[in-house]
Amino acid sequence: MKRNQTMMQFFEWHIDADGTHWNRLRDAAPELKTNGITSIWIPPVTKALSVNDTGYGAYDLYDLGEFDQKGTVRTKYGTKQDLMDAISACHEQGLTVYVDLVMNHKAGADEKETFQVIEVAGNNRTKDISKPFDIEGWTKFTFPGRGEQYSSFKWNSEHFNGTDYDARANRGGVFRILGENKRWNEHVDHEFGNYDYLMFADIDYNHPQVREEMTSWGKWLATTLSCNGYRLDAIKHINHDFIKEFATQMVQERGEDFYMVGEFWNPDLSECQQFLDTIDYTMDLFDVSLHYKLQAASQAGKDFDLTTIFENTLIQSHPMNAVTFVDNHDSQPHEALESWVQDWFKQSAYALILLRQDGFPVVFYGDYYGIGGKEPQEGKRSAIDPLLYARYHKAYGEQQDYFDHPNTIGWVRLGIPEIVGSGCAVIMSNSDLGEKRMSLGDQHAGEVWIDCTHNRKDEITIEQDGFATFPVNGGSVSVWTNPKT
Ligand code: CA
Repeated sequence: MKRNQTMMQFFEWHIDADGTHWNRLRDAAPELKTNGITSIWIPPVTKALSVNDTGYGAYDLYDLGEFDQKGTVRTKYGTKQDLMDAISACHEQGLTVYVDLVMNHKAGADEKETFQVIEVAGNNRTKDISKPFDIEGWTKFTFPGRGEQYSSFKWNSEHFNGTDYDARANRGGVFRILGENKRWNEHVDHEFGNYDYLMFADIDYNHPQVREEMTSWGKWLATTLSCNGYRLDAIKHINHDFIKEFATQMVQERGEDFYMVGEFWNPDLSECQQFLDTIDYTMDLFDVSLHYKLQAASQAGKDFDLTTIFENTLIQSHPMNAVTFVDNHDSQPHEALESWVQDWFKQSAYALILLRQDGFPVVFYGDYYGIGGKEPQEGKRSAIDPLLYARYHKAYGEQQDYFDHPNTIGWVRLGIPEIVGSGCAVIMSNSDLGEKRMSLGDQHAGEVWIDCTHNRKDEITIEQDGFATFPVNGGSVSVWTNPKT
């Protein structure tokens, strides 16, 4: 019997840059496994422009904390050996590991060079606002600390199509690089006319050498780390044809079990659906629509109609392709896509992703262990662990919804014979104290259930006909299960 799968995003934006994070993962692996986590998403493993960078300012994709570059051998998170050890520790526990890939841009070039650009409007990248002119741009990547080990590919302005800084004039802007076959890539997000350009030096996926090099790197990385999959960063800014080609190549190289999920951050559900069609379902997508619904519900309180929580979400339209999450390193306070789900609703939000039959849910490190930065917050392990327990041991079998009141919704999972004691009844309220009469089926008759979140202390006896009336506190969630297993 395959247990429910749950991913943990094992980082937040502000974890200490002390080089011990891979060790932290190594040490946490046994406990995460025990608590019901089955997969770990780790941050970018490659050398970034500085040791304090999260990894999204990617410098050398072949330096996993092995070469003295950017003033350090290790990355923010540790050395290559620490990384390998952490992945081994996860594998020993049966946890699969997905690595975060930054493929849209490169940062921290080794040298400047002079090339011709046209400046475009920040809010419309298809609109030229200058004549062609020369700039000095940071686009030459020679990797002096690594030399030609693993790859002899050196990057220059030919391999990029945009940059944001002219060192000659000491000013910023969005500069489109000119040259043969040079243009913004098509098949990218349409915001700002063409959203190929996001930041730093934008990798030009129209260039055949670039496509070849990045594909070859993807294969090298998976083989080197023996990782089980990838999380692809910022793919709405990357030529979608290449994304499909890349995903197909990775599966060919690593096998059908190689798992991929893409960050296609667009709150417009139809854009996400179209993207899945374009890439022919070669990877899953994070359910950004559901994240924004959860945030809206947390902000509106009792004015939000909970019966609509899954309307217009990817989990509803594409249940087999949705990776559900509550918050992440970008949505946390003061970060690029700030849209934090408010505290009072956090446990309910996790119940909505962890205890349903559809979706591959992610638990965010910042919610579990806490976040640092300007507005630090405590972790919510005591609220999330009971839900992980219920997901791993209880949330199986047919799902029946009781989405019949705007302020109080519930659902049941009837349980399956293969997992003794499985089955659960979930009820949540965004207003006052409530209750709901729900049926678990007469196979559960006579069982005495408790709320495994301990938000309620009652003992509820399932009646002869399989029904029981389950209570919930105001602005809270309760997860009723059979404790005797
Ligand atoms: Ca791009």
